[in-house]
Amino acid sequence: MNYQLPLFEPEEAPPTVPEAVAELLYDEATEILVAFSGGKDSVAMVLYLLDLGIPKERIILHHHEVDGRGEHLFDWPCTPSYCKAFAAAFELPLVFSWREGGILREMYRTNEGLQDVRYEQQDGSAVVLASRPGSSTRRKFPAVAADLRTRWCSSVAKIDVLSRVIAHSYPEGGQLIICTGERREESPGRAAYKAYEKYRASTKKRTAIQWRPVIDFREKQVWALYEKYNVQPHPCYMLGWPRCSCQTCIFSSPNTWAAIQQIAPWKIDYMEAIENDLGHTLYHGMRIREKARRGRSFIPPDMLQRWKTEAIGEFTSPIFPDRWELPAGAFGAEMAGAV
Ligand code: SF4
Repeated sequence: MNYQLPLFEPEEAPPTVPEAVAELLYDEATEILVAFSGGKDSVAMVLYLLDLGIPKERIILHHHEVDGRGEHLFDWPCTPSYCKAFAAAFELPLVFSWREGGILREMYRTNEGLQDVRYEQQDGSAVVLASRPGSSTRRKFPAVAADLRTRWCSSVAKIDVLSRVIAHSYPEGGQLIICTGERREESPGRAAYKAYEKYRASTKKRTAIQWRPVIDFREKQVWALYEKYNVQPHPCYMLGWPRCSCQTCIFSSPNTWAAIQQIAPWKIDYMEAIENDLGHTLYHGMRIREKARRGRSFIPPDMLQRWKTEAIGEFTSPIFPDRWELPAGAFGAEMAGAV
């Protein structure tokens, strides 16, 4: 089944829905779960599904809180409120999940196992998924590496959390598509990803596939979808970030750290205090403050004035703005997210 996105130039090959995915996608019995970070690729996935004619009633958004409901050290403080505003505007259900204590607690793990996973059901009640007891010690920052075993923050705070929630909350015998927002354009590692594959929480009785709907989208198509649906991008893009992952993503460049220093200096202080406490630096031999000192903030002054308060607080702007504008971070090359 081919779908022609009207945002592609005539000479560009439009994305297609793979046959095996289409069979499930257009089957009303299939639930469609979108891993929704609030970043541009997750928003584009939702808009693309709507463009494909998928009824809203079959779509459910899942968001992981990487700080585990502690203070927003890694996450953008406005991200949960942005996700809620988006879900409300499109009348989509939104489930929050997190690992207790988030990335910070895992960094400090001392003679214990992984913390439990929690998620909120749609009626607001919380479910606790206990983790196996253990007695290992971490006391380190995640490694700035592509390998997910050493760069453990992604798996501990996001990937494993989602698969545990799915295994617990989706019944055996059901059909499920899990949409994730990687794009080949983002990194050589992502360029090699498959468009779809069997999901890790799939069982003999539960058909679950992971589909990457925007894997072949170029960034211009992502923004074109925003413009088409008149969706306000996350405040970080307005401030000039090209990627919206953790605000203090370990892959951030010196310029990105300088921008963090400009809007949230307490985060640099906090990271520095952790370096002192753990006796371990995020960047081999270079202190976080030095990394930020070597960079230059990219935030345009007018955008700083307009968006800083919301970025480091609650998102309160309308999801459908009066006048849509391409954010300052669009098409930027600054490192600010996972590879
Ligand atoms: S966005 Fe960066 S810091 Fe956050 S989980 Fe991913 S790699 Fe780790």
